[in-house]
Amino acid sequence: MEKLQQMKDTLQIHIDSIQDELNSLSQDIWSHPELAGNETKAHDRLVRFFSQRDGAWTVESHFKLPTAFRASWGPVGGGPKEGNTVLNVGFLCEYDALPDLGHACGHNLIAEVGAAAAVGLKAALDGHSELPVPVKITVLGTPAEEAIGGKIDLIHAGAFSDLDLVFMAHPAQQDASFLPTVTIEEVTVKYHGKASHASAYPWEGVNALDAAVLAYNNLSALRQQLKPEWRLHGIIKNGGVKPNIIPAYAELEFYLRTPLLKDLLNLKAKAEACFRAAALATGCQVEIIYPCHTYYNILPNATLANLYESNGKTLGIEFPEQPDFFSGSTDFGNVSFIVPGIHAFFSIGSAALNHTKEYTEAAGAEKAQLFTLRTAKALAMTAVDVVCRPDLLQQTREDFSRAKLKQENVLL
Ligand SMILES: [Zn+2]
Ligand SMILES: [Zn+2]
Repeated sequence: MEKLQQMKDTLQIHIDSIQDELNSLSQDIWSHPELAGNETKAHDRLVRFFSQRDGAWTVESHFKLPTAFRASWGPVGGGPKEGNTVLNVGFLCEYDALPDLGHACGHNLIAEVGAAAAVGLKAALDGHSELPVPVKITVLGTPAEEAIGGKIDLIHAGAFSDLDLVFMAHPAQQDASFLPTVTIEEVTVKYHGKASHASAYPWEGVNALDAAVLAYNNLSALRQQLKPEWRLHGIIKNGGVKPNIIPAYAELEFYLRTPLLKDLLNLKAKAEACFRAAALATGCQVEIIYPCHTYYNILPNATLANLYESNGKTLGIEFPEQPDFFSGSTDFGNVSFIVPGIHAFFSIGSAALNHTKEYTEAAGAEKAQLFTLRTAKALAMTAVDVVCRPDLLQQTREDFSRAKLKQENVLL
């Protein structure tokens, strides 16, 4: 127990000793906001951060995606493979910004938390050869959270297959070890009709705008029958070119969200029926396209959440009552289905809401630093608990299997 506390003290001292460097890392990312998939400066900055740490980290730039990276420290191995003896602890950094708003979701601070927690854990582990298992630390730079779901591309590319645990934290309005995020599916619907003079020969045309309007109204009627937490919202993106031409083409964009993945499949089926019914009624052809990855809900992990809270409390973090419902979505949800992990949320000392100009300011403010670094410390301390106590590691794995089993009928 004494050793555990010593390691936790060491990591706090280490993170404090490089706080200026960590602050300038997130400041540099904040001052050069880059959109999903185009985070070249942030990528280079983080690669430099890990490359310059006395050669202790093996850094792979452009890892599997153009703006993803991987930095690792420790022995070779890791992951749930047969015969593997290395415990590979992952930390995730996000760093994409939003159009027009800059870092209004504070992903510059996610990058700082991930980097700080990883180097903090390394400082705690350095020189401790008597750990129950050899430990490796892996930092993954995961781009494009706001638009495409970079983590899902990385999952498909095998970037998570050698990880045993995964840690990250996201700026929010409050501190929480878990919030029930929701799934999200984007859908584009294209109606193809036939143009004709709208006054002289309207009967020769097939009206694609009518299909779009009927579909919109079908979905509005459907909304009344949905559970309170389900969301269905969208726009008519293209509704024809001129009033005297029967529209030959119309396009809708909708987002579907539900707390659980199995409900999302249900909602998708209902929405598709609405889209197809409108095509049938008007005689249009319909294309239903899902242009992005489906973001899953985050699976809770009670062991990691409890450890994070008890470590956080020793650092002065307060954890208010969790809201029953939280409508945010993240591609970490998909990660939580394949690796046991935690996606904590942290206050940055501002009442501003994510995705607003005010939040951009807060994410770049000096005041956010205290909150960011203590979050990094709480994450690294939680990692120390799990790597030093096989009973907690076992519990964490059991929580993961249990949470996954609950959603068994849905699947990957
Ligand atoms: Zn966001
Ligand atoms: Zn975000």
